[in-house]
Amino acid sequence: MAGTAMIVQPPPLEYAIPRATGNGKTAFAVLASPEVQAFLAQPLAKAIQKIAHVPGMGSPALRAPNARVEDFSDPNLPALAEGMVRAIEELHGIGLTACQVGINVAVFAVDLGACVEIGRRRGGDSVCKKLTLDGRSLLRGASPGVALFFNPTMRCGGREVRAEEGCLSIPSPTDPGKSLEVKLWRPSDATLSYQDLAGAWHVLDADGWPARCLQHEYDHVQGRLITDRDPRWRDRIFPLPGEGELASSEPDRR
Ligand SMILES: [Zn+2]
Repeated sequence: MAGTAMIVQPPPLEYAIPRATGNGKTAFAVLASPEVQAFLAQPLAKAIQKIAHVPGMGSPALRAPNARVEDFSDPNLPALAEGMVRAIEELHGIGLTACQVGINVAVFAVDLGACVEIGRRRGGDSVCKKLTLDGRSLLRGASPGVALFFNPTMRCGGREVRAEEGCLSIPSPTDPGKSLEVKLWRPSDATLSYQDLAGAWHVLDADGWPARCLQHEYDHVQGRLITDRDPRWRDRIFPLPGEGELASSEPDRR
C-alpha cells in the first residue's frame, strides 16, 4: 500500500523482475528459482520502482497464485523478509506483498506503526482504537514498526467504511509519479491469523487504518487489486483474467 510520500520517478529499466513464479510451485521452489535468487541479490526498492511504473501495470505475478510457506527453515526466507522490510522503508510505503516484487509466496509486510500514525492524521473512521497481537495491545509503548505476515487468513467485520487508498503497483494514469487513489468501502475491523518468520502462529486484531491496510495487502495475496473493487477502474486497469482464475475469494465476513 502506498504511504503519504510521493513515489519518485523510476530509474532506467535496469532491474530484472521475475516473471510470475507461482502456478503450482511450492514456496521453496519459488524462492530457489534462478529468477528469484537473482532478484533477491538486487536492491529491492529500485526494482519495485520499476514494477510500480510499468504502464498499465503488467506484472503477471500480481495475478498468479501465491504459494504457502510450509518449511520455515528455508534458508531463503530471511533474505526475502529483510528485503521486503528494507523496500517498505526506502519507498516510504506502509505495506508490500511479495507478489508485488514478482515473488509468488503468501507473505506481506506492513508498517503497523506508520498505519496507526496515518490513521491518527486522517481522523474519523481511520483512527485506530484496537490493535492487539495475541490479545496484547500494540497501541501502548513503542511503535510496533514493520511486521511480516506469512500464510495469512483473514476475517472481516464491523461497519462498512469508505476511504481513499493507493497502491505501489498502480500508478495514476494522469500522473505516473504518484499512485492512483481509489475510494473504497471496506469492513472497519479485520482479524488476521498468520505465521511469523519462525513459523509460530499469531492473531492480529485491528480497526481503523491498520485494518484497511491489512485488507489491502491480504487482497494482493488473493491476486486482487484495489481497481478490481471499483467499477470505474475494474475493466480499465489490468482487468482480472476471470474470477475463476483468482487464487481465492474475498475476505470472509465474520
Ligand atoms: Zn497494493
